[in-house]
Amino acid sequence: MAEIEADYLVVGAGAAGLAFVDALVDASDADVVMVDRRERPGGHWNDAYPFVRLHQPSAYYGVNSLPLGSDSIDESGPNAGFYERASAAEICSYFQRALDHLLDTGRVRFLGASTCSFERSDGHTVTDLATGDATAVRVRRRLVDARYLETSVPSTHVPTFGVDEGVRVAPVNSLAEVPDADGFTIIGGGKTAMDACCWLLDNGVPAEALRWVRPRESWVLDRLYTQPLDLLTPTIDGLSLQLEAAAEAETVDELFERLEATGQLQRLDPTIEPTMYHCATLSQAEMEQLRRIDDVVRLGYVRRIEPDRIHLTDGEIPTGSGQLHVDCSAYGLRRSPARPIFEPGRITPQPVRSCQPTFNAALVGHVEATYADDATKNRLCPPNQYPNTAMDWMRTTAVGQQAQNEWGQDRELTVWMEGIRLNTGRGLRSHFGEPAMVTAIERMITHGESSVTNLERLMAGLPTG
Ligand SMILES: Cc1cc2nc3c(=O)[nH]c(=O)nc-3n(C[C@H](O)[C@H](O)[C@H](O)COP(=O)(O)OP(=O)(O)OC[C@H]3O[C@@H](n4cnc5c(N)ncnc54)[C@H](O)[C@@H]3O)c2cc1C
Repeated sequence: MAEIEADYLVVGAGAAGLAFVDALVDASDADVVMVDRRERPGGHWNDAYPFVRLHQPSAYYGVNSLPLGSDSIDESGPNAGFYERASAAEICSYFQRALDHLLDTGRVRFLGASTCSFERSDGHTVTDLATGDATAVRVRRRLVDARYLETSVPSTHVPTFGVDEGVRVAPVNSLAEVPDADGFTIIGGGKTAMDACCWLLDNGVPAEALRWVRPRESWVLDRLYTQPLDLLTPTIDGLSLQLEAAAEAETVDELFERLEATGQLQRLDPTIEPTMYHCATLSQAEMEQLRRIDDVVRLGYVRRIEPDRIHLTDGEIPTGSGQLHVDCSAYGLRRSPARPIFEPGRITPQPVRSCQPTFNAALVGHVEATYADDATKNRLCPPNQYPNTAMDWMRTTAVGQQAQNEWGQDRELTVWMEGIRLNTGRGLRSHFGEPAMVTAIERMITHGESSVTNLERLMAGLPTG
């Protein structure tokens, strides 16, 4: 068997693996072998549905050393007034360029179309999926498991419901153009389903032709509060209002009332209390568009689709041969259990700041290269499992804010963050002349510590599980 050596073996060349390696190589002299089952870098973006766009601005997504897009503000369309968001094709070609830059350093090697086994502590076997040839990789420093949170997307997942012969079911990826159908049954309550509904409506399908199976209602973030650079002030204002609510709410109900009243969380149907939170983000224009769909099915999860009936966990509804059932039920973000990010011989990149995977992976790469011991590294990078339920808003906010408080005590990290493009708050200082920004920063400082304490108190009062 062939043998190679490297300081780090990084399994997974998706957004997380690339952002980690980019930051590690920038801050150290390490050499790295990257492995991915796919031939190309970019992970799930290679299988994304055709009309998908980043949910956040391109300005702070990707690897730190290479800008994505041109930081321009869209003038028309559902994203008008907000920073541009890259398409899947743009993201895939971007990640190829990012990998090429890493290869150009001479310190990174990429083994595509290869899989990696995890059985040994000091060495691992990489198998070429085309030839079956195996290579032993001796790892001098650490294995990096950048597939721990591998994303699930509709084109590659297996639906959890059964489908009888003759029923028309299509993954959302098949919607390159509007298919011929009398009606569309959209299955799923998450962001992919929201995107599919918006796309069908934008492409002329009447709202009456859409039926939306939403097993759970979701809290949704307002895109206004995710903007960087010139539009940063509302984002920081929003964050400060979240911390204020988190610090002052007497009860969980009051917390969510305040978050909604200040526009930090929104819901599609004001009469239903959301139980789900996946960081889905929509503009007001998209919210209005989606509220046009009246036929919302709230009978739980789809279990089986027969030619004339859909069976759900809490009931059944009729269907027919004219209906196209659009599967948007892949879970997207993987909620693998939180584990220490830094362990002997191993790094497992995971969220720290809520729902910012590339910022977090770069943070982990930078911290690995810059700090000496794992206790310090884990203190700066506590794992913050992706949210699932509405209650998870409290945990992800508390863990993320606790980390933010730690970063604020560390001069090196503060300077690094001020300069990196993956940090939403970069350029904060240039807004210091704006009264709204000054008020927001004062509010954040006031509630930085007490928000964590109060959230922990509120969570302690929740029923177990
Ligand atoms: C539609 C959609 C929109 C999104 N928009 C945003 C957004 O705007 N902002 C944001 O921050 N996040 C967004 N996300 C979240 C997104 O999941 C992350 O941004 C990021 O792309 C996840 O990257 P990853 O590297 O963790 O996972 P993946 O992209 O899944 O990459 C993991 C890689 O590991 C490889 N792999 C797995 N097992 C092995 C093995 N044994 N051997 C070798 N290779 C292996 C896989 O082939 C894969 O390429 C979005 C997600 C979706 C689905």
